[in-house]
Amino acid sequence: MRSPILDYLDTLISETDHISSGEPADYIPELAAADPDKVAVALCTVNGTVYASGDADHQFSIQSMSKPFAYALAIEDQGLERVRDLIGVEPSGEAFNELSLDPETGKPRNPMINAGAIATHALIASEGQSRVERVLKFFGSLSGRTIEIDEAVASSELATGDRNLGLAYLLHSSGQLAGDPQESVTGYIRQCAASVTVSDLALMAATLANGGVQPRTGERLLCRESTRHLLSVMASCGMYDAAGDWLTGVGIPAKSGVAGGIIGVLPGQVGVAVFSPRLDGHGNSVRGVEMMQRLSEDLGLHLMEAS
Ligand code: GLU
Repeated sequence: MRSPILDYLDTLISETDHISSGEPADYIPELAAADPDKVAVALCTVNGTVYASGDADHQFSIQSMSKPFAYALAIEDQGLERVRDLIGVEPSGEAFNELSLDPETGKPRNPMINAGAIATHALIASEGQSRVERVLKFFGSLSGRTIEIDEAVASSELATGDRNLGLAYLLHSSGQLAGDPQESVTGYIRQCAASVTVSDLALMAATLANGGVQPRTGERLLCRESTRHLLSVMASCGMYDAAGDWLTGVGIPAKSGVAGGIIGVLPGQVGVAVFSPRLDGHGNSVRGVEMMQRLSEDLGLHLMEAS
């Protein structure tokens, strides 16, 4: 028998796929070529059951949704204290690629904006392989399948990555970057170009919802404390300069990416992922935000809701 959850997700897509405001990101030329009408949603319970609808097999680059997972890996490798020494946990209220560090501490304000994410990437231990290979393997363990880089997206961003290079040199000059600036930016950009579907992302998010244990394999990929810390940072800093609107409206830890994806995590319950390339002024997917808002209301996901 067909699950009522699938019927619900189909309805969610059909009630939001008329929205045509916003534009795909164009500062990375390859992203501007995305089909703007693609739309998909997936949900994964902490038991590992995935429900997906729309263009659920369509692959797109993970972009900034890689940031929370890379941050978790850096904490596992270096310990929370060392990571906290180099990267803050305060919302910035600024654009994701703002050329600024906290004036008082000299640190990037948080790991969800580019400055913090480049510093994070440099903290991942390479363990005899490149950092990017390590990150890709980690994404593979989280999603349960082999994750590869979209080379067209990676080279497109590498060719236009001056702002991220500027950020890396700024970090380096203030002693907040553990690696070489060029190498850190190349690695970070390749990390962002990992190619995923909404079903992959829902499983990755469900691993966070499940306290760091991949729901299908039962493998502990992150310790409970890192997972709790990471979800707290996602809740306060995950949605760029719209973080306050997001927490009040949708009410779950989340992270968006400029290719049009958004992941959300309801601890102990479910991981969700949505995708649609047209973005609003904050860099968040327009249809994606609408779908997440409806999911939150319809399924009662808001964390601050008294049950
Ligand atoms: N790779 C993108 C950048 O660094 C990620 C931005 C995003 O998804 O917000 O600009």
